[in-house]
Amino acid sequence: MSQDDVLVVGAGLAGLVIAGAWAHRGGHATVLDASASVGASSAGGGLQIAPPTVAVLRRLGVDLDAAGAVVVHAQETRASDGRLLGRAPLHACEQRYGTPYVTVRRADVHAALLARVASVADVRPGTAVTSVHETHEPVVTLADGRTLHPGTLVGADGIRSVVRAALGPDRPLYSGLWAHRALVPLAGLPAHLAAPVVRLWVGPGAHVVAYPVAGGRELNLVVVVPGEDDDPTAPAWTAATDPEPLRRRLADWPDDVRAVLDAVEMLRGHAVHDRAPLEHLTSGRVALVGDAAHPMAPFLAQGANQAVEGAVELAAALAAADRPAALTAYERRRASRAGHLQQGSRRSVALLHLPAGPERDARDRAWAAETGLAHRDRLYGYPVATLLGNALASSA
Ligand SMILES: Cc1cc2nc3c(=O)[nH]c(=O)nc-3n(C[C@H](O)[C@H](O)[C@H](O)COP(=O)(O)OP(=O)(O)OC[C@H]3O[C@@H](n4cnc5c(N)ncnc54)[C@H](O)[C@@H]3O)c2cc1C
Repeated sequence: MSQDDVLVVGAGLAGLVIAGAWAHRGGHATVLDASASVGASSAGGGLQIAPPTVAVLRRLGVDLDAAGAVVVHAQETRASDGRLLGRAPLHACEQRYGTPYVTVRRADVHAALLARVASVADVRPGTAVTSVHETHEPVVTLADGRTLHPGTLVGADGIRSVVRAALGPDRPLYSGLWAHRALVPLAGLPAHLAAPVVRLWVGPGAHVVAYPVAGGRELNLVVVVPGEDDDPTAPAWTAATDPEPLRRRLADWPDDVRAVLDAVEMLRGHAVHDRAPLEHLTSGRVALVGDAAHPMAPFLAQGANQAVEGAVELAAALAAADRPAALTAYERRRASRAGHLQQGSRRSVALLHLPAGPERDARDRAWAAETGLAHRDRLYGYPVATLLGNALASSA
């Protein structure tokens, strides 16, 4: 089978973007997803989308305005006693990087992307892969017992990737923290919470993030606290969360936090996992992308952004005249960007959750000094969308 015959496992953001990026290069991909309703597993929360990802999605023909994206003006960081610790002027992203910083309901952006990609790739929901053998002549076994022999296999199947298992035996690592999230109608909340601001409150052992999505109709809430798992070595991955214990834990936090928690009936909890950076993201005819390649804790809001960047870069590498050299370059670039963020996400939570003391004072001074966007240039000024050429919308 030809190497141009690309089989993608997973139709999350990474899988859909690589299929769209591959179509840009004149190729055709088949995308399998275990879920009968593609995107359902990622529904229920919001995403912060950085300027490079906005540029990629636009070139793939995704209309973010129609998907209810909110253009963010600022990120405000406050202590759990309400003190303002920092304000990042995200409204300047458009001018500085060419595209804005936006927030969106993840189900909305996923549906918009799926609608675009389904017209240029073969997306097959309800098709679970149970195992992958061999990376030089990969054999993919499906849940119904069929086997496939793709020319090129891309693992975009998330943090619990079956494809990754063919490259090595590593496991997801539990952080000891849970992220509890909910979408809350803004209509019943204090009016200023509808402003296009990403709000972050940090305190000892916990932090809270809130920002508007869905065209400003809903507030995405994420509360990160230590887990109370019966078995901390093997926690459940997700669970429904009663807000009452969170209300008690954060009872002396600012009014805004308490108002949002009071308005929530139920949250969805996710045990936060990542994995150690992998030395090789490719082997033979198999390549990994997105969370399958470099899953990271969500504390820098970069997992999906890196998934999208990596998908565009991997499509370019697969199309290169010297594919092996291009795949090596893909691995190096991902290691330096996503690998760095994997470790940075882990470290950042210790900083966010610091108790009172000299370390926290030093952190607060450092945050107060970060007034512009210059320190974010490496992250937000990454010109990955140029690998896509013209917009798919106009070439389709
Ligand atoms: C609370 C929280 C908040 C976050 N906030 C942000 C944020 O603001 N910004 C950001 O950039 N990132 C954020 N992230 C991270 C982001 O959600 C992930 O990094 C991103 O969704 C990864 O995309 P993916 O396509 O690689 O994987 P996934 O979204 O996990 O998609 C994997 C797909 O593969 C399918 N699949 C899995 N196994 C199989 C199989 N065996 N066979 C077939 N199909 C399979 C699944 O059904 C799924 O559709 C957050 C994460 C959490 C938990």
